[in-house]
Amino acid sequence: MKQKIQEKFKALFGEEGVLYASAGRINLIGEHTDYNGGYVFPGAIDCGIMAAIKVNGTPKVKVFSLDYNESAEFGLNEEDVPEKQWARYIFGVCRETIKRGGKVEGFNAVFAGDVPLGAGLSSSAALESCFAFALNDIFGNGIDKFELAKIGQSTEHNYCGVKCGIMDQFASVFGKEGALIRLNCKTLEYKYFPFHPKGYKLVLIDSCVKHELASSAYNKRRASCENAAAAIRKNHPEVEFLSDAKRVWLDEVREQIPEEDFLRAEYVIGEVQRVLDVCDALERDDYETVGEMMYQTHFGLSRLYEVSCEELDFLNKLARKMDVTGSRVMGGGFGGCTINLVKEELYDGFIAAAKEQFAAKFGHAPKIYNVVISDGARKL
Ligand code: ADP
Ligand code: MG
Repeated sequence: MKQKIQEKFKALFGEEGVLYASAGRINLIGEHTDYNGGYVFPGAIDCGIMAAIKVNGTPKVKVFSLDYNESAEFGLNEEDVPEKQWARYIFGVCRETIKRGGKVEGFNAVFAGDVPLGAGLSSSAALESCFAFALNDIFGNGIDKFELAKIGQSTEHNYCGVKCGIMDQFASVFGKEGALIRLNCKTLEYKYFPFHPKGYKLVLIDSCVKHELASSAYNKRRASCENAAAAIRKNHPEVEFLSDAKRVWLDEVREQIPEEDFLRAEYVIGEVQRVLDVCDALERDDYETVGEMMYQTHFGLSRLYEVSCEELDFLNKLARKMDVTGSRVMGGGFGGCTINLVKEELYDGFIAAAKEQFAAKFGHAPKIYNVVISDGARKL
């Protein structure tokens, strides 16, 4: 990829650019916990975005996307917002850097990536954090890493119409090889934990379905969580978010809230604890416990939180049947991928069975993405 990017840069601009890269991400465990003030546990992966960049001495940004085989050119003022969606991510990063007092002047760039688009691996965060990191380095702005992640998040909010949380950009900026990062979504404190699953593979199976309930169901789940937290708060005023509540405090209010809200809250409180249990297990190199927690999360997402779907439950059940160590739906639900922790000797059989049996039942093949936990945003 490096070579292709530099060749194109040379052909367009007559020299070579400086190379930067960033990464997509997975979340091992900690789902639907972010808006409840709980933990998420993401890591950067070995697919991402790579860009060659060089200041061009003009007021314009000239960018070429190798994957779309398209170019875009735009100025750096608010009204210069480009038409093309992919260019808006880069424009947004420039604008959000400028809004924070950073310097950005015209530059040339060629970029490409290998994060599958819209599969739940956050190709958009990879793109944002690659450029946020690069501009900060090139123009010597000295913006700290957390703010670089926020530049990406604000880009999604203000230029791409996606009201996302901070996890994706955080993971993409802070990611390190062989480490997952536990982020407390309430305090934004974070801690690295070792992730060296020797003898295991981490593989995503993309169901390639997206059921349309997702956004209305998401709002309903949030409302249930807030309702449960409000009921608990009457007895325990220190409960700001649902994740602050102890399981027994939820039991105290069982009769006061709809059963559905109780089940949603039961999942969230359990999930926050599971993240902590997984972190403990990782410090002991105990990947079997990690895997068991992943299955528990899937059960919770499917039966208590009710955000799974037939395709994802099918993949999860098959994983269990084939002695896969851990498997769960990753992301908001209603489609997308399962994330699986598989012993190397079982890998080939599992993947072959998943492809064949899924296709036989649902009429299309799933996609398979092998991932390794790797470095996030960096200069090459
Ligand atoms: P994801 O879940 O992968 O983040 P999004 O819809 O949020 O999905 O972001 C995908 C968008 O990000 C693409 O439509 C495109 O505009 C941009 N993008 C991601 N990867 C690339 C790439 N390699 N080249 C150009 N644009 C990209
Ligand atoms: Mg995205």
